[in-house]
Amino acid sequence: MTQLSPRVQHLVQPHLTQLDVYDPSFTPTRINLSANENTYDVPPRTRTAINEVLIATPTNRYPDPLSTKLRDELASWRHVSCDEIVVGNGGDELLYNVLLAFGGPQSSLVICPPTFAEYAFFAALTKTPLTAVARDKTTLLPDSEALVRAASQARLVVLTSPNNPTGDCASPELIERLCDTCPGLVLVDAAYSEFVQNDEPLETLLATHDNLLILHTLSKAFALAGARCGYLIAAPDIIEVLVSVRQLYSVNVLTQAAACVAVQARQDFEPTVAQIIAERTRLYDALTNLCAHSTGTVWPSEGNFLLICVAGASRIRTRLRNEYSILVRDVSATPGLADCLRITIGTPEENDCVLRALATLIEEESHE
Ligand SMILES: *Cc1c(COP(=O)(O)O)cnc(C)c1O
Repeated sequence: MTQLSPRVQHLVQPHLTQLDVYDPSFTPTRINLSANENTYDVPPRTRTAINEVLIATPTNRYPDPLSTKLRDELASWRHVSCDEIVVGNGGDELLYNVLLAFGGPQSSLVICPPTFAEYAFFAALTKTPLTAVARDKTTLLPDSEALVRAASQARLVVLTSPNNPTGDCASPELIERLCDTCPGLVLVDAAYSEFVQNDEPLETLLATHDNLLILHTLSKAFALAGARCGYLIAAPDIIEVLVSVRQLYSVNVLTQAAACVAVQARQDFEPTVAQIIAERTRLYDALTNLCAHSTGTVWPSEGNFLLICVAGASRIRTRLRNEYSILVRDVSATPGLADCLRITIGTPEENDCVLRALATLIEEESHE
């Protein structure tokens, strides 16, 4: 963290003085493939429908705290009842609420790094002891046996599927084993599930595993990252606790209205999701080819992003930005991800630009 001023140093809660300020290193660029957003906007027909409801939505009244209409819509889509759903201001808020409700100094959280950084951040905010079960150094897959062992002692396990940034999916068998073993709760973060080829909805596991929590977001496949809307599915008694700790009005009226329209029109998003999946395969093949001529690696991914390891990754990321106005995420400072970059799948044109630029840069940097 940037040095606190002496004045606040003595005022701020001691466990919060060491936290880093999140810096997504955002700079305006021609092509932004750094944050795993949907590179396509909401499809035009649905965007028009959203615009119309936004115009018709008054803002002088407080929002419905529970987003009832949206909750009903999500429940019928996911084949669960509405008391099994809580909506939040992005999936991030719900993750925080889970730690707020079920974490704390007497609790424990198991995660599988390298993974989404927010889990450790919210654990730190809520003073929740963290157990990291490291992934395999080469395949970057979770160590199932070690994970099940750790889960047997944990109050809370978070598994990300597909995982950000490694791209792999957890098998339903592993999720079931974790639920069976863990005396507490197992949260599967399914932020990217819409991009999984032949995705089997995890919601079917809820009938037999009442300690399973499934997190979704409208930030990725639904192209609503800016609107901030996520939802979590779990047994009604778990939802009740999450409802009791949440900020009453965290999901504003405009977001609720827009999200309702988007979820109703979910089929309208299928062509772009299919396009992103097809481009992911194309980009994976092309990058694998590039890497074959150097010492790089590309990992297979079920998300809307790819993880690539190349010599001089940080320099390549800076040169991509400065010389090509392309922004990708440098994750090379993360333990286990030395020389790794995470690249969000863009439009075919954007992907062509990245590929051309990387072909040049990987070649040049390999001679450094
Ligand atoms: C993007 C993301 C989320 C949720 O993002 P929100 O924009 O807050 O909904 C959750 N988990 C993972 C792993 C993500 O990558």
